[in-house]
Amino acid sequence: MLKVQFLPAREGDSIWLQWGKDSAFQMLIDMGTAKTGRTIRKRLESLPEQDRTFELVVVTHIDCDHINGAVSALADNEPIPGLNIKDFWFNGLSHLDYKQDVGSLEEMGAVKGEMLGRWLKDRSWNVHFNGGPVCRDPSQPISTIDLAGGMQVTVLGPTPQRLKQLLPTWQKEWQEAIAKYQDEDEDSIFEALGASKKLSLRDMRALENLANKKTPIDKSPANGSSISLLIEYENTRVLLSGDAFASDLVEAINTLSPSEPLRLNAFKLPHHGSCKNLSRELIQSVICDQWIISTEGNRFQHPDDEAVARIIYHSKVRPARLGFNIQSEVNQRWNNDAWREQFDYITDYGDAEEGLTIMFGPKH
Ligand SMILES: [Zn+2]
Repeated sequence: MLKVQFLPAREGDSIWLQWGKDSAFQMLIDMGTAKTGRTIRKRLESLPEQDRTFELVVVTHIDCDHINGAVSALADNEPIPGLNIKDFWFNGLSHLDYKQDVGSLEEMGAVKGEMLGRWLKDRSWNVHFNGGPVCRDPSQPISTIDLAGGMQVTVLGPTPQRLKQLLPTWQKEWQEAIAKYQDEDEDSIFEALGASKKLSLRDMRALENLANKKTPIDKSPANGSSISLLIEYENTRVLLSGDAFASDLVEAINTLSPSEPLRLNAFKLPHHGSCKNLSRELIQSVICDQWIISTEGNRFQHPDDEAVARIIYHSKVRPARLGFNIQSEVNQRWNNDAWREQFDYITDYGDAEEGLTIMFGPKH
């Protein structure tokens, strides 16, 4: 059995996966904001010490809604007794323009003041990549990494090119994340933005128009540097895409499955359902049972209506199944019986404590 839990992570992501008999193995992808990280720390501390082993922990990229939780839970906090992270994937400054011969440890000196990098320096950092960057070189065949308990992980992105593009803005992005981290009032700032515009959709034509509306594309170098992963366990396939660019995901998916759309059981959509990261091509590049959006929506009003309309309209699997990790004012509009029937979709909503949990495979 594979259990995938999309934890409440404010505007960000935090995904806890457990697999094997008695959920013996686990991994964690991102830890949301600083506040999310403190909650995750409590979750870790509530586990018996012998259950605090992780096959893998990943921080997909340096945006505050993915990385700050890792800082508050781990790097800027006391060690958690018994916590054993076998491999921690994170592309730090030294990985952005990585040259094998320079020697990674020496280069990591440049990561001064960068808390997660400093914390990782003496730990199992990018072990599967010999300390080098976690990325996929499009000129090489795609390779799959075996974790304990029969879990397979395939890195779909970023490419070395996307890592390089982050180099000029790394400092700025990092400072922004730290500023947010240090802002104790981060919880209250955006609550007032919860109220949002109404959406009316009269008929299928209106949904189609919204789905096909031309929208800008994401150009954020930080998002483009996201580690995106295909998770395969027994007969289950889950795509966890960080905040990656739609075009990059399409390219990776087409490389992996050149002749037909990739079959997926679930797809954690990039960038919290932003229309900038969800193209029609991306939706049509897969045959997907469940489309997952992780955000509470307050800060950036995600998911965008255009993005949700695109999924519902273009999903090859019918009815289209949407999963929201928590209920929010923004996503609640899709909780509409008339629309569900008219537009042929179903919805799952997680809750504010546990988020959305999906179980795959036989339960034993
Ligand atoms: Zn994000």
